[in-house]
Amino acid sequence: PRPIDLLNSALSSTNRERDNIEAKNSVVHWFKCDLRTQDNKSLHMASEKAKEEGLPLIAFYIISPQDFEAHLTAPVRVDFILRNLEVLKEELGKLDIPLYVETVEKRKEIPGRILELLKEWGARHLFTNVEYEVDELRREAKMVEMCLENGIAMDVLPDTCVVSPGELQSGSGKQYAVYTPWFRTWVAHVHDHPKLLEQFPPPSKNPSKARKTFPKLFDSTIPSAPPNKSLTAEEKKRFKSLWPAGEEEAKARLTKFCEQKISGYTDHRNFPSEAATSSLSPHFAAGTLSARTAIKYARDHNTTKKLNAGTQGIQTWISEVAWRDFYKHVLANWPYVCMNKSFKPEYTNISWEYNDEHFETWKTGQTGYPIVDAAMRQLLHTGWMHNRCRMIVASFLAKHLLTDWRMGEAFFMTHLIDGDFASNNGGWGFAASTGVDPQPYFRIFNPLLQSEKFDAEGNYIRKWVKELEGVKGKAIHDPYERGCGKEAKKGGYPKRVVDHKESRERCLARYKEGLGRE
Ligand code: FAD
Repeated sequence: PRPIDLLNSALSSTNRERDNIEAKNSVVHWFKCDLRTQDNKSLHMASEKAKEEGLPLIAFYIISPQDFEAHLTAPVRVDFILRNLEVLKEELGKLDIPLYVETVEKRKEIPGRILELLKEWGARHLFTNVEYEVDELRREAKMVEMCLENGIAMDVLPDTCVVSPGELQSGSGKQYAVYTPWFRTWVAHVHDHPKLLEQFPPPSKNPSKARKTFPKLFDSTIPSAPPNKSLTAEEKKRFKSLWPAGEEEAKARLTKFCEQKISGYTDHRNFPSEAATSSLSPHFAAGTLSARTAIKYARDHNTTKKLNAGTQGIQTWISEVAWRDFYKHVLANWPYVCMNKSFKPEYTNISWEYNDEHFETWKTGQTGYPIVDAAMRQLLHTGWMHNRCRMIVASFLAKHLLTDWRMGEAFFMTHLIDGDFASNNGGWGFAASTGVDPQPYFRIFNPLLQSEKFDAEGNYIRKWVKELEGVKGKAIHDPYERGCGKEAKKGGYPKRVVDHKESRERCLARYKEGLGRE
Protein backbone atom coordinates (compact mmCIF):
# COMPACT_ATOMS: atom_id res chain seq x y z
CA PRO A 1 0.00 0.00 0.00
CA ARG A 2 1.02 3.61 -0.53
CA PRO A 3 2.37 5.20 2.67
CA ILE A 4 -0.54 7.67 2.62
CA ASP A 5 -2.98 4.73 2.72
CA LEU A 6 -1.07 3.21 5.64
CA LEU A 7 -1.51 6.43 7.57
CA ASN A 8 -5.18 6.82 6.68
CA SER A 9 -5.93 3.27 7.70
CA ALA A 10 -4.04 3.68 11.01
CA LEU A 11 -6.04 6.84 11.69
CA SER A 12 -9.42 5.32 10.88
CA SER A 13 -8.81 2.07 12.78
CA THR A 14 -7.94 3.96 15.96
CA ASN A 15 -10.82 6.41 15.69
CA ARG A 16 -13.34 4.61 17.87
CA GLU A 17 -11.03 3.32 20.58
CA ARG A 18 -9.51 6.66 21.33
CA ASP A 19 -12.81 8.11 22.53
CA ASN A 20 -12.39 6.07 25.70
CA ILE A 21 -9.11 7.68 26.64
CA GLU A 22 -9.24 9.15 30.12
CA ALA A 23 -8.41 12.83 30.55
CA LYS A 24 -4.87 13.32 31.78
CA ASN A 25 -2.58 16.31 32.17
CA SER A 26 -2.05 17.88 28.77
CA VAL A 27 -2.79 18.13 25.06
CA VAL A 28 0.23 18.31 22.77
CA HIS A 29 1.04 19.78 19.34
CA TRP A 30 4.10 18.56 17.44
CA PHE A 31 5.58 21.24 15.14
CA LYS A 32 7.31 20.17 11.93
CA CYS A 33 7.10 22.24 8.72
CA ASP A 34 4.38 24.47 10.17
CA LEU A 35 6.24 26.99 12.32
CA ARG A 36 3.40 29.45 12.87
CA THR A 37 0.59 30.19 15.30
CA GLN A 38 -1.82 31.63 12.71
CA ASP A 39 -3.82 29.40 10.41
CA ASN A 40 -2.27 26.18 11.64
CA LYS A 41 -4.86 23.41 11.58
CA SER A 42 -3.25 21.01 14.03
CA LEU A 43 -2.25 23.72 16.49
CA HIS A 44 -5.78 25.12 16.36
CA MET A 45 -7.39 21.71 16.89
CA ALA A 46 -5.00 20.96 19.74
CA SER A 47 -5.90 24.24 21.37
CA GLU A 48 -9.64 23.55 20.99
CA LYS A 49 -9.18 20.10 22.52
CA ALA A 50 -7.18 21.53 25.42
CA LYS A 51 -9.91 24.11 26.05
CA GLU A 52 -12.62 21.49 25.94
CA GLU A 53 -10.76 19.29 28.44
CA GLY A 54 -9.55 22.20 30.59
CA LEU A 55 -5.96 21.04 30.04
CA PRO A 56 -2.76 22.92 29.24
CA LEU A 57 -1.43 22.83 25.67
CA ILE A 58 2.24 21.93 25.15
CA ALA A 59 4.08 22.36 21.85
CA PHE A 60 7.34 20.70 20.87
CA TYR A 61 9.80 20.37 17.97
CA ILE A 62 12.42 17.66 17.46
CA ILE A 63 15.77 18.42 15.84
CA SER A 64 17.45 15.35 14.43
CA PRO A 65 20.90 15.70 12.83
CA GLN A 66 20.42 12.36 11.12
CA ASP A 67 17.06 13.45 9.79
CA PHE A 68 18.61 16.64 8.39
CA GLU A 69 21.27 14.48 6.77
CA ALA A 70 18.71 12.09 5.28
CA HIS A 71 16.70 14.98 3.85
CA LEU A 72 19.85 16.78 2.67
CA THR A 73 18.60 19.84 4.53
CA ALA A 74 20.79 22.83 3.70
CA PRO A 75 22.64 24.53 6.59
CA VAL A 76 20.96 27.79 5.55
CA ARG A 77 17.58 26.10 5.92
CA VAL A 78 18.49 24.62 9.31
CA ASP A 79 19.54 28.09 10.45
CA PHE A 80 16.24 29.54 9.18
CA ILE A 81 14.28 26.85 11.03
CA LEU A 82 16.14 27.55 14.28
CA ARG A 83 15.61 31.31 13.96
CA ASN A 84 11.92 30.70 13.30
CA LEU A 85 11.73 28.50 16.39
CA GLU A 86 13.13 31.38 18.49
CA VAL A 87 10.42 33.71 17.20
CA LEU A 88 7.74 31.05 17.62
CA LYS A 89 8.78 30.33 21.21
CA GLU A 90 8.36 33.99 22.02
CA GLU A 91 4.95 34.21 20.30
CA LEU A 92 3.67 31.08 22.07
CA GLY A 93 5.10 32.32 25.36
CA LYS A 94 2.74 35.30 25.14
CA LEU A 95 -0.10 32.77 25.20
CA ASP A 96 1.49 30.85 28.08
CA ILE A 97 2.12 27.93 25.74
CA PRO A 98 5.58 26.34 26.12
CA LEU A 99 7.61 25.37 23.06
CA TYR A 100 9.99 22.57 23.98
CA VAL A 101 12.80 21.81 21.50
CA GLU A 102 15.03 18.78 21.85
CA THR A 103 17.78 17.21 19.76
CA VAL A 104 17.39 13.50 19.03
CA GLU A 105 20.50 12.22 17.28
CA LYS A 106 19.06 9.27 15.29
CA ARG A 107 15.89 9.55 13.27
CA LYS A 108 14.65 6.08 14.17
CA GLU A 109 14.72 7.08 17.84
CA ILE A 110 12.30 9.96 17.28
CA PRO A 111 9.00 8.06 17.83
CA GLY A 112 10.29 6.37 21.00
CA ARG A 113 11.55 9.65 22.44
CA ILE A 114 8.29 11.40 21.62
CA LEU A 115 6.39 8.67 23.41
CA GLU A 116 8.59 9.14 26.49
CA LEU A 117 7.90 12.87 26.46
CA LEU A 118 4.16 12.33 26.02
CA LYS A 119 4.14 9.99 29.02
CA GLU A 120 6.17 12.44 31.08
CA TRP A 121 3.66 15.20 30.26
CA GLY A 122 0.65 12.97 30.86
CA ALA A 123 -0.56 13.68 27.34
CA ARG A 124 -4.11 12.85 26.45
CA HIS A 125 -3.92 13.70 22.77
CA LEU A 126 -1.11 14.41 20.29
CA PHE A 127 -1.87 16.57 17.26
CA THR A 128 0.36 17.15 14.24
CA ASN A 129 0.08 18.13 10.57
CA VAL A 130 0.79 15.57 7.89
CA GLU A 131 3.96 15.56 5.78
CA TYR A 132 3.82 13.66 2.50
CA GLU A 133 7.34 12.24 2.27
CA VAL A 134 7.43 8.43 2.44
CA ASP A 135 9.42 8.05 5.68
CA GLU A 136 7.26 10.61 7.47
CA LEU A 137 4.00 8.97 6.42
CA ARG A 138 5.24 5.55 7.53
CA ARG A 139 6.55 6.95 10.80
CA GLU A 140 3.29 8.72 11.59
CA ALA A 141 1.25 5.59 10.73
CA LYS A 142 3.34 3.66 13.25
CA MET A 143 3.10 6.41 15.84
CA VAL A 144 -0.70 6.55 15.69
CA GLU A 145 -0.77 2.90 16.75
CA MET A 146 2.06 3.27 19.27
CA CYS A 147 0.29 6.17 20.94
CA LEU A 148 -2.99 4.35 21.19
CA GLU A 149 -1.31 1.32 22.77
CA ASN A 150 -0.15 3.73 25.44
CA GLY A 151 -3.54 5.33 25.94
CA ILE A 152 -2.81 8.48 23.93
CA ALA A 153 -4.91 9.63 20.97
CA MET A 154 -3.09 10.96 17.90
CA ASP A 155 -4.35 13.05 15.01
CA VAL A 156 -2.36 13.70 11.82
CA LEU A 157 -4.12 16.47 9.93
CA PRO A 158 -3.93 17.68 6.34
CA ASP A 159 -2.81 21.31 6.39
CA THR A 160 0.08 22.12 4.08
CA CYS A 161 -1.89 22.00 0.81
CA VAL A 162 -4.95 24.08 -0.01
CA VAL A 163 -6.54 20.97 -1.52
CA SER A 164 -5.23 17.78 0.08
CA PRO A 165 -3.74 14.94 -1.97
CA GLY A 166 -6.37 12.40 -2.94
CA GLU A 167 -9.15 15.00 -3.25
CA LEU A 168 -8.87 15.56 -7.00
CA GLN A 169 -9.33 12.91 -9.62
CA SER A 170 -9.42 12.98 -13.38
CA GLY A 171 -12.48 11.80 -15.32
CA SER A 172 -11.13 8.25 -15.22
CA GLY A 173 -10.87 8.40 -11.42
CA LYS A 174 -7.09 8.67 -11.34
CA GLN A 175 -4.51 11.16 -10.06
CA TYR A 176 -3.71 13.74 -12.75
CA ALA A 177 -0.22 13.58 -14.18
CA VAL A 178 -0.62 16.82 -16.16
CA TYR A 179 -0.80 20.19 -14.44
CA THR A 180 -3.25 22.13 -16.66
CA PRO A 181 -6.33 19.89 -16.28
CA TRP A 182 -5.39 19.31 -12.65
CA PHE A 183 -5.34 23.08 -12.06
CA ARG A 184 -8.76 23.51 -13.67
CA THR A 185 -10.17 20.90 -11.30
CA TRP A 186 -8.29 22.45 -8.37
CA VAL A 187 -9.86 25.87 -9.06
CA ALA A 188 -13.35 24.39 -9.41
CA HIS A 189 -12.88 22.42 -6.19
CA VAL A 190 -11.81 25.48 -4.20
CA HIS A 191 -14.71 27.50 -5.62
CA ASP A 192 -17.10 24.70 -4.64
CA HIS A 193 -15.61 24.39 -1.14
CA PRO A 194 -15.08 27.96 0.07
CA LYS A 195 -14.26 26.61 3.54
CA LEU A 196 -10.91 25.45 2.15
CA LEU A 197 -9.74 29.05 2.27
CA GLU A 198 -11.04 29.73 5.77
CA GLN A 199 -8.27 30.31 8.23
CA PHE A 200 -7.78 28.54 11.54
CA PRO A 201 -7.63 30.98 14.44
CA PRO A 202 -4.46 31.03 16.56
CA PRO A 203 -4.45 29.02 19.80
CA SER A 204 -6.14 30.36 22.91
CA LYS A 205 -4.19 31.37 25.98
CA ASN A 206 -3.25 28.45 28.20
CA PRO A 207 -4.83 28.13 31.66
CA SER A 208 -2.57 29.69 34.28
CA LYS A 209 -1.67 26.30 35.76
CA ALA A 210 0.43 25.55 32.63
CA ARG A 211 3.41 27.54 33.90
CA LYS A 212 3.17 25.99 37.34
CA THR A 213 2.83 22.42 36.05
CA PHE A 214 5.49 22.60 33.35
CA PRO A 215 8.02 25.28 34.46
CA LYS A 216 11.01 23.49 32.89
CA LEU A 217 9.42 23.56 29.45
CA PHE A 218 9.08 27.34 29.61
CA ASP A 219 12.72 27.71 30.68
CA SER A 220 14.14 25.44 27.96
CA THR A 221 16.20 27.02 25.19
CA ILE A 222 16.47 26.38 21.44
CA PRO A 223 19.55 24.21 20.72
CA SER A 224 22.12 25.44 18.22
CA ALA A 225 22.58 23.85 14.79
CA PRO A 226 24.15 20.38 14.78
CA PRO A 227 27.85 20.49 13.77
CA ASN A 228 27.16 18.93 10.35
CA LYS A 229 24.80 21.79 9.51
CA SER A 230 26.51 24.81 11.11
CA LEU A 231 27.17 28.09 9.36
CA THR A 232 30.13 30.43 9.77
CA ALA A 233 29.55 33.67 11.69
CA GLU A 234 29.65 35.63 8.43
CA GLU A 235 27.06 33.36 6.80
CA LYS A 236 24.80 33.55 9.84
CA LYS A 237 24.85 37.34 9.69
CA ARG A 238 24.31 37.43 5.94
CA PHE A 239 21.36 35.03 5.90
CA LYS A 240 19.76 36.69 8.89
CA SER A 241 19.69 40.02 7.13
CA LEU A 242 18.55 38.52 3.79
CA TRP A 243 15.89 36.28 5.32
CA PRO A 244 14.44 37.62 8.57
CA ALA A 245 12.47 34.93 10.39
CA GLY A 246 8.97 34.63 11.77
CA GLU A 247 5.36 34.58 10.69
CA GLU A 248 4.97 38.35 11.05
CA GLU A 249 7.82 38.82 8.59
CA ALA A 250 6.13 36.35 6.20
CA LYS A 251 2.86 38.22 6.50
CA ALA A 252 4.61 41.55 5.89
CA ARG A 253 6.28 40.14 2.74
CA LEU A 254 2.95 38.85 1.48
CA THR A 255 1.21 42.16 2.14
CA LYS A 256 3.94 44.19 0.44
CA PHE A 257 4.03 41.85 -2.54
CA CYS A 258 0.24 41.97 -2.98
CA GLU A 259 0.14 45.72 -2.64
CA GLN A 260 3.11 46.59 -4.82
CA LYS A 261 4.00 43.79 -7.20
CA ILE A 262 1.37 41.17 -7.77
CA SER A 263 -0.47 43.08 -10.50
CA GLY A 264 2.73 43.14 -12.60
CA TYR A 265 3.67 39.54 -11.75
CA THR A 266 2.67 37.99 -15.09
CA ASP A 267 4.78 40.40 -17.11
CA HIS A 268 7.81 40.63 -14.84
CA ARG A 269 8.17 37.33 -13.01
CA ASN A 270 10.57 35.79 -15.54
CA PHE A 271 13.25 38.48 -15.28
CA PRO A 272 15.75 37.60 -12.56
CA SER A 273 17.21 41.09 -12.22
CA GLU A 274 13.79 42.44 -11.20
CA ALA A 275 12.61 41.52 -7.72
CA ALA A 276 9.19 40.77 -9.21
CA THR A 277 8.34 37.53 -7.42
CA SER A 278 7.24 37.20 -3.81
CA SER A 279 10.37 35.42 -2.44
CA LEU A 280 8.01 33.74 -0.01
CA SER A 281 9.26 30.21 -0.74
CA PRO A 282 11.45 30.00 2.41
CA HIS A 283 8.34 30.81 4.45
CA PHE A 284 6.16 28.25 2.69
CA ALA A 285 8.88 25.64 3.26
CA ALA A 286 9.31 26.44 6.96
CA GLY A 287 5.57 26.81 7.35
CA THR A 288 5.75 30.37 8.67
CA LEU A 289 3.07 31.11 6.07
CA SER A 290 0.29 28.78 4.97
CA ALA A 291 -0.62 28.43 1.29
CA ARG A 292 -4.25 28.88 2.36
CA THR A 293 -3.57 32.30 3.89
CA ALA A 294 -1.47 33.37 0.91
CA ILE A 295 -4.05 32.38 -1.70
CA LYS A 296 -6.94 33.85 0.25
CA TYR A 297 -5.06 37.11 0.73
CA ALA A 298 -4.24 37.33 -2.98
CA ARG A 299 -7.77 36.43 -4.00
CA ASP A 300 -9.23 39.03 -1.65
CA HIS A 301 -7.11 41.61 -3.48
CA ASN A 302 -8.58 40.48 -6.78
CA THR A 303 -11.29 42.44 -8.53
CA THR A 304 -13.48 39.34 -8.88
CA LYS A 305 -12.76 37.37 -5.68
CA LYS A 306 -12.10 34.45 -8.03
CA LEU A 307 -8.97 32.37 -8.47
CA ASN A 308 -8.99 32.28 -12.25
CA ALA A 309 -10.46 35.62 -13.28
CA GLY A 310 -9.88 39.30 -12.56
CA THR A 311 -6.39 40.80 -12.27
CA GLN A 312 -4.02 38.79 -14.47
CA GLY A 313 -1.06 39.01 -12.07
CA ILE A 314 -3.14 37.62 -9.23
CA GLN A 315 -4.42 34.73 -11.33
CA THR A 316 -0.92 33.84 -12.43
CA TRP A 317 0.49 34.01 -8.91
CA ILE A 318 -2.27 31.79 -7.53
CA SER A 319 -1.58 29.28 -10.30
CA GLU A 320 2.10 29.26 -9.28
CA VAL A 321 1.31 28.65 -5.63
CA ALA A 322 -0.93 25.83 -6.84
CA TRP A 323 2.13 24.10 -8.40
CA ARG A 324 3.23 23.51 -4.83
CA ASP A 325 -0.01 21.57 -4.17
CA PHE A 326 0.36 19.73 -7.49
CA TYR A 327 3.81 18.36 -6.69
CA LYS A 328 2.67 17.25 -3.22
CA HIS A 329 -0.24 15.40 -4.82
CA VAL A 330 2.23 13.71 -7.16
CA LEU A 331 4.47 12.71 -4.26
CA ALA A 332 1.60 11.29 -2.19
CA ASN A 333 0.23 9.32 -5.12
CA TRP A 334 3.50 8.11 -6.64
CA PRO A 335 5.77 7.70 -3.61
CA TYR A 336 8.50 6.08 -5.70
CA VAL A 337 9.59 9.59 -6.79
CA CYS A 338 10.92 9.81 -3.24
CA MET A 339 13.18 6.82 -3.87
CA ASN A 340 15.66 8.26 -6.32
CA LYS A 341 13.60 7.11 -9.30
CA SER A 342 12.45 9.00 -12.38
CA PHE A 343 8.72 9.60 -12.55
CA LYS A 344 8.93 8.27 -16.09
CA PRO A 345 10.63 4.86 -15.79
CA GLU A 346 11.58 4.84 -19.48
CA TYR A 347 14.10 7.58 -18.69
CA THR A 348 16.07 5.36 -16.32
CA ASN A 349 18.32 4.13 -19.10
CA ILE A 350 20.06 7.35 -20.09
CA SER A 351 23.85 6.99 -19.90
CA TRP A 352 24.97 9.98 -17.91
CA GLU A 353 28.48 11.34 -18.15
CA TYR A 354 29.41 11.56 -14.44
CA ASN A 355 32.21 14.00 -15.27
CA ASP A 356 33.34 15.34 -11.88
CA GLU A 357 35.19 18.31 -13.35
CA HIS A 358 32.13 19.44 -15.27
CA PHE A 359 29.92 19.00 -12.23
CA GLU A 360 32.36 21.07 -10.19
CA THR A 361 32.22 23.98 -12.68
CA TRP A 362 28.43 23.91 -12.44
CA LYS A 363 28.39 23.81 -8.63
CA THR A 364 30.79 26.73 -8.30
CA GLY A 365 29.43 28.89 -11.13
CA GLN A 366 32.46 28.48 -13.44
CA THR A 367 30.90 26.97 -16.58
CA GLY A 368 31.75 29.90 -18.84
CA TYR A 369 28.03 30.44 -19.52
CA PRO A 370 27.41 33.75 -17.73
CA ILE A 371 23.68 33.24 -17.05
CA VAL A 372 24.31 29.78 -15.56
CA ASP A 373 27.21 31.03 -13.45
CA ALA A 374 25.30 34.08 -12.20
CA ALA A 375 22.44 31.84 -11.07
CA MET A 376 24.66 29.34 -9.27
CA ARG A 377 26.43 32.16 -7.47
CA GLN A 378 23.10 33.68 -6.45
CA LEU A 379 22.26 30.30 -4.90
CA LEU A 380 25.59 30.04 -3.06
CA HIS A 381 25.40 33.59 -1.74
CA THR A 382 21.72 33.88 -0.82
CA GLY A 383 20.43 30.29 -0.44
CA TRP A 384 17.78 31.09 -3.06
CA MET A 385 17.57 31.21 -6.85
CA HIS A 386 15.09 32.81 -9.22
CA ASN A 387 12.68 30.32 -10.83
CA ARG A 388 13.70 31.09 -14.43
CA CYS A 389 17.32 30.50 -13.46
CA ARG A 390 16.47 27.24 -11.65
CA MET A 391 15.08 26.00 -14.96
CA ILE A 392 18.10 27.21 -16.92
CA VAL A 393 20.74 25.68 -14.63
CA ALA A 394 18.82 22.42 -14.18
CA SER A 395 18.43 22.00 -17.93
CA PHE A 396 22.09 22.91 -18.44
CA LEU A 397 23.29 20.29 -15.97
CA ALA A 398 21.09 17.49 -17.26
CA LYS A 399 21.26 18.24 -20.96
CA HIS A 400 24.44 20.20 -21.73
CA LEU A 401 26.63 18.46 -19.17
CA LEU A 402 24.64 15.20 -19.36
CA THR A 403 25.03 14.89 -15.64
CA ASP A 404 22.53 12.74 -13.75
CA TRP A 405 19.80 15.21 -12.72
CA ARG A 406 19.59 13.57 -9.28
CA MET A 407 23.04 14.99 -8.48
CA GLY A 408 21.72 18.47 -9.23
CA GLU A 409 18.55 17.79 -7.26
CA ALA A 410 20.64 16.81 -4.24
CA PHE A 411 22.94 19.81 -4.64
CA PHE A 412 19.92 22.12 -4.67
CA MET A 413 18.53 20.54 -1.51
CA THR A 414 21.83 20.99 0.32
CA HIS A 415 21.96 24.69 -0.62
CA LEU A 416 18.39 26.00 -0.80
CA ILE A 417 16.74 27.84 2.07
CA ASP A 418 13.39 26.82 0.55
CA GLY A 419 14.42 23.20 -0.19
CA ASP A 420 11.21 21.22 -0.46
CA PHE A 421 11.40 17.63 -1.68
CA ALA A 422 8.21 17.65 -3.78
CA SER A 423 8.79 20.99 -5.56
CA ASN A 424 12.49 20.40 -6.05
CA ASN A 425 11.99 16.89 -7.40
CA GLY A 426 9.19 18.19 -9.62
CA GLY A 427 11.32 21.08 -10.91
CA TRP A 428 14.26 18.80 -11.72
CA GLY A 429 12.02 16.24 -13.38
CA PHE A 430 10.51 19.01 -15.50
CA ALA A 431 13.86 20.40 -16.61
CA ALA A 432 15.53 17.01 -17.21
CA SER A 433 12.37 15.72 -19.01
CA THR A 434 12.20 12.71 -16.70
CA GLY A 435 9.43 13.94 -14.40
CA VAL A 436 5.70 14.45 -14.24
CA ASP A 437 4.36 16.82 -16.93
CA PRO A 438 7.91 17.58 -18.15
CA GLN A 439 9.45 19.53 -20.99
CA PRO A 440 9.82 17.16 -23.94
CA TYR A 441 13.40 15.89 -23.98
CA PHE A 442 14.18 17.44 -27.36
CA ARG A 443 13.39 20.92 -25.99
CA ILE A 444 16.81 21.98 -24.86
CA PHE A 445 17.16 25.47 -23.43
CA ASN A 446 19.76 27.49 -25.26
CA PRO A 447 21.48 29.33 -22.38
CA LEU A 448 22.51 32.16 -24.69
CA LEU A 449 18.97 32.80 -25.92
CA GLN A 450 17.59 32.49 -22.39
CA SER A 451 20.17 35.02 -21.24
CA GLU A 452 19.36 37.47 -24.03
CA LYS A 453 15.66 37.13 -23.48
CA PHE A 454 15.42 37.22 -19.71
CA ASP A 455 18.47 39.30 -18.78
CA ALA A 456 18.67 41.48 -21.88
CA GLU A 457 20.78 44.23 -20.30
CA GLY A 458 22.90 41.73 -18.38
CA ASN A 459 22.10 43.35 -15.03
CA TYR A 460 21.63 40.01 -13.31
CA ILE A 461 24.88 38.64 -14.74
CA ARG A 462 26.80 41.79 -13.77
CA LYS A 463 25.51 41.56 -10.21
CA TRP A 464 26.78 38.02 -9.66
CA VAL A 465 29.71 37.58 -12.06
CA LYS A 466 32.16 40.27 -11.03
CA GLU A 467 34.84 38.99 -13.43
CA LEU A 468 32.72 40.36 -16.28
CA GLU A 469 32.53 43.90 -14.92
CA GLY A 470 34.76 45.14 -17.74
CA VAL A 471 32.52 43.68 -20.46
CA LYS A 472 30.21 46.23 -22.03
CA GLY A 473 26.82 45.81 -23.74
CA LYS A 474 25.41 42.58 -25.15
CA ALA A 475 28.80 40.86 -25.14
CA ILE A 476 28.05 40.06 -21.50
CA HIS A 477 25.99 37.07 -22.65
CA ASP A 478 28.92 35.44 -24.44
CA PRO A 479 32.08 37.51 -23.93
CA TYR A 480 34.61 35.25 -25.65
CA GLU A 481 32.57 34.97 -28.87
CA ARG A 482 31.54 38.61 -28.98
CA GLY A 483 34.83 40.39 -29.06
CA CYS A 484 35.32 40.84 -25.32
CA GLY A 485 37.57 37.85 -24.69
CA LYS A 486 40.39 40.12 -23.53
CA GLU A 487 38.24 41.77 -20.85
CA ALA A 488 36.76 38.44 -19.74
CA LYS A 489 40.20 36.86 -19.52
CA LYS A 490 41.57 39.84 -17.62
CA GLY A 491 38.72 39.48 -15.11
CA GLY A 492 39.60 35.79 -14.76
CA TYR A 493 36.36 34.49 -16.32
CA PRO A 494 36.61 30.90 -17.70
CA LYS A 495 35.88 29.78 -21.25
CA ARG A 496 32.88 27.55 -21.93
CA VAL A 497 33.21 24.12 -20.41
CA VAL A 498 31.25 22.56 -23.28
CA ASP A 499 30.22 23.78 -26.70
CA HIS A 500 26.50 24.47 -27.02
CA LYS A 501 25.90 22.85 -30.39
CA GLU A 502 27.95 19.74 -29.70
CA SER A 503 26.43 19.15 -26.29
CA ARG A 504 22.95 19.68 -27.68
CA GLU A 505 23.52 16.99 -30.29
CA ARG A 506 25.11 14.65 -27.76
CA CYS A 507 22.10 15.11 -25.47
CA LEU A 508 19.56 14.39 -28.20
CA ALA A 509 21.41 11.24 -29.20
CA ARG A 510 21.87 10.02 -25.64
CA TYR A 511 18.23 10.56 -24.62
CA LYS A 512 17.04 8.88 -27.79
CA GLU A 513 19.36 5.95 -27.21
CA GLY A 514 18.21 5.65 -23.56
CA LEU A 515 14.58 5.66 -24.57
CA GLY A 516 15.22 2.98 -27.16
CA ARG A 517 16.62 0.56 -24.56
CA GLU A 518 14.42 -1.93 -22.78
P1 FAD B 1 6.75 33.15 -6.59
O1 FAD B 1 6.92 33.30 -8.05
O2 FAD B 1 6.38 34.35 -5.81
O3 FAD B 1 5.65 32.01 -6.36
C1 FAD B 1 4.92 31.90 -5.14
C2 FAD B 1 5.06 30.52 -4.56
O4 FAD B 1 4.50 29.56 -5.45
C3 FAD B 1 6.49 30.07 -4.33
O5 FAD B 1 7.00 30.58 -3.13
C4 FAD B 1 6.31 28.55 -4.32
O6 FAD B 1 5.83 28.11 -3.06
C5 FAD B 1 5.20 28.33 -5.34
N1 FAD B 1 5.81 28.02 -6.64
C6 FAD B 1 6.10 28.88 -7.64
N2 FAD B 1 6.59 28.22 -8.70
C7 FAD B 1 6.60 26.92 -8.37
C8 FAD B 1 7.01 25.72 -9.03
N3 FAD B 1 7.48 25.73 -10.28
N4 FAD B 1 6.91 24.57 -8.36
C9 FAD B 1 6.42 24.51 -7.10
N5 FAD B 1 6.03 25.60 -6.42
C10 FAD B 1 6.12 26.78 -7.04
N6 FAD B 1 10.38 25.63 -4.95
C11 FAD B 1 10.47 25.40 -3.64
O7 FAD B 1 9.69 25.96 -2.86
N7 FAD B 1 11.43 24.56 -3.14
C12 FAD B 1 12.33 23.93 -3.94
O8 FAD B 1 13.16 23.17 -3.45
C13 FAD B 1 12.27 24.18 -5.34
N8 FAD B 1 13.18 23.63 -6.18
C14 FAD B 1 13.08 23.87 -7.53
C15 FAD B 1 13.99 23.25 -8.40
C16 FAD B 1 13.91 23.48 -9.79
C17 FAD B 1 14.90 22.80 -10.70
C18 FAD B 1 12.91 24.31 -10.30
C19 FAD B 1 12.81 24.57 -11.77
C20 FAD B 1 12.00 24.93 -9.44
C21 FAD B 1 12.07 24.71 -8.06
N9 FAD B 1 11.16 25.32 -7.16
C22 FAD B 1 11.25 25.06 -5.82
C23 FAD B 1 10.04 26.14 -7.67
C24 FAD B 1 10.31 27.65 -7.80
O9 FAD B 1 11.51 27.87 -8.46
C25 FAD B 1 10.34 28.38 -6.44
O10 FAD B 1 9.22 28.02 -5.68
C26 FAD B 1 10.32 29.89 -6.64
O11 FAD B 1 11.43 30.29 -7.41
C27 FAD B 1 10.34 30.58 -5.30
O12 FAD B 1 10.39 31.96 -5.45
P2 FAD B 1 9.18 32.89 -5.01
O13 FAD B 1 8.74 32.54 -3.64
O14 FAD B 1 9.59 34.29 -5.26
O15 FAD B 1 8.06 32.44 -6.03
